[in-house]
Amino acid sequence: MSAVNRHSGGGEAEKEQSAAEAAESMWVPESLRVPSPDEIVGQAFPHRDPLVITGITVICQDCGAREDWLILLSQRVVHVRCRCGHEWREPELTPAWFEETKRGPAVEYHSSAESVVQSLGFDGTFKGIYL
Ligand SMILES: [Zn+2]
Repeated sequence: MSAVNRHSGGGEAEKEQSAAEAAESMWVPESLRVPSPDEIVGQAFPHRDPLVITGITVICQDCGAREDWLILLSQRVVHVRCRCGHEWREPELTPAWFEETKRGPAVEYHSSAESVVQSLGFDGTFKGIYL
């Protein structure tokens, strides 16, 4: 009585075919194309102190911020942005005011306002944090 047990297998390594990860190409639609590097889109500077326009202290209607602003100048229009990321046009502020008020060189940005907003920490990430 001979029992023959044949254990097949062993040493038969399964080769899992790793799914070929298709590298996503950084394709940018024409509508999102950034301007050429030497084209300055705008300037920005942080304004730590309360901002007073025609005798009225600016207060963010979203978060109630009274200071620590980011002032943006683009296409001769001045925008004010607070740490919570709320941004609005401030028609009382002119490019001349921008030039007078900025202390030191403003940050020139070439691509989009969003990039300079992020680099200066005004995209809401650092809300309430003073750098
Ligand atoms: Zn705000």
